[in-house]
This record gives sequence, structure tokens and C-alpha cells, in this order.
Amino acid sequence: MLCDFHLHTDFSGDSQTPAAVQIEKAILLGMPRICITDHHDMDVVSSCDFSLNLPAYFPAMKQLQTQYREKIQIEIGIELGLQNHISGKLMEVSSQYPFDYIIGSCHFIDSLDPYYPEFFQGKTEKQAYRRFFEVTLSRVQNLNCFDSLGHLDYVVRYGPSKNRDYHYSDYQDLIDCILKVLIQKGKALECNTGGFHYGLDHPNPCEEILCRYRELGGELLTIGSDAHSPEYIGFDFERARELLKCCGFSYYTVYHQRKPEFLTL
Ligand SMILES: [Zn+2]
Ligand SMILES: [Zn+2]
Repeated sequence: MLCDFHLHTDFSGDSQTPAAVQIEKAILLGMPRICITDHHDMDVVSSCDFSLNLPAYFPAMKQLQTQYREKIQIEIGIELGLQNHISGKLMEVSSQYPFDYIIGSCHFIDSLDPYYPEFFQGKTEKQAYRRFFEVTLSRVQNLNCFDSLGHLDYVVRYGPSKNRDYHYSDYQDLIDCILKVLIQKGKALECNTGGFHYGLDHPNPCEEILCRYRELGGELLTIGSDAHSPEYIGFDFERARELLKCCGFSYYTVYHQRKPEFLTL
């Protein structure tokens, strides 16, 4: 089973699953290694608390690493919410703690989370998606605090018609720029299988973008389920493996102490 490098526990405001439950499920699935990546979105207004209790998180994760070391290798990660105006704080968090791996994700755009319908109000779906990619591009250009860009087309999970009318070609100008910046900066692209269980029938980002990244020379590819509960750990990983191979990837990437390591797909 491929290693799942995007997992949440009850350290995330939107998960009720104790870390040990996630770990036990990963062991059951035969994963040799996982990375726990709980949410930390700073300076956002939301009904859910997305700030991570970092002083408590590290000792808890270290304890689990030791407890399960015979059965599975646990990397300590984080999913940082990217925003340009907090670049200093993001750098501080990423350098202050000894993370193995950092996902950079765009969850809030113009102070709104596309998870809620307000983000789409007053915009056509295309305008909303375009805005999401524009902001993502400016963030990957400006910020360096992460290892892999999480769920690049996350916004299509929540659009009024989801991905029914969504085509990479409509946003190719912006998406290609995002991919080129990642490659040039040595950042990875994440294949997030959450898209499958959100009913998109595609990962985030979609196959066309994953293939385009490879075509442009992208080699650093991470894989994660974005599971907030144990039933979604490793979700559709075999399907992801096949589609990534079709895109031309032979390896995927895991991280330890913020350094990439390559594993066979
Ligand atoms: Zn996310
Ligand atoms: Zn996540």
C-alpha cells in the first residue's frame, strides 16, 4: 500500500478521530509509513477552529512515533493554510518546529473558504475558479514555507456544479504558471484522493493537471487521502497509482526532516 502523506486527527478542528485510530487503520492497511498533517490556518475567520495547538502536538506525535515504531514509521507534518499577508508567521512556524513534511494549501481566498457557498456569491462558477487559481499562483510565487502544494484544484469540490463543467483548458494559463513555479522552486505537487470520496470521480488536482506537471518536468509528487476519519485512509490509492503511472510517473515522494525520498509507484 502506498504511503499516505495527508492525514488528519482530532488535533484538526474538523476531525474527531484520535491519532491512534488513524495509525491503527494505516497499519491494518499495510502502510509502512504515514505522515500526519493536521490543519493550521492562521488569521482566518471560521466557525471551525483551524489553529493547531503546536506545543501539545509535537509531544503527542513523538509519543506515538515511539509507541508504534515497530509497526509503522510516523512522520510529523502539518497542513499550513497559505496566505500572503502572513508570510512572516508561516516562515516562523515552519522553521520553529522540526516538521518532517509541510503541505501548503489554499483554503481561504479573499477571507472566504470555498467550502461555504458565500465564496461563490456574486461570481459565475468560472470566475470563482479563476479567482482561486489566481490567488494560488500569487501564493506559490511568494511563499516558500511548504514542501508540497495540497489539492491544487480544491475549489472544484465545492462549486455549484462541482467539476461537471470544469476543464483544465479553461484555466491552463494560470495552472501552467503554478506548475512551473513549483518545479522551479523544487516544491512537490500533491495528488489528493479526497476528490474520489467527495464524488468528483477524479483526484485533486485532476489527471490532466497531474499529466501536465509531469510533461513540464515535474518529478516531486506526493500522495495523500486527506482522511479525517479512518475509513478514508488510503482511499482509492490503487486507482491513483494507475492513473499516475499513465501520466508517466514511476516514483512518488515521501519526506523525512523536510527532505524528499523517492519510492516506487
Ligand atoms: Zn486541505
Ligand atoms: Zn487536509
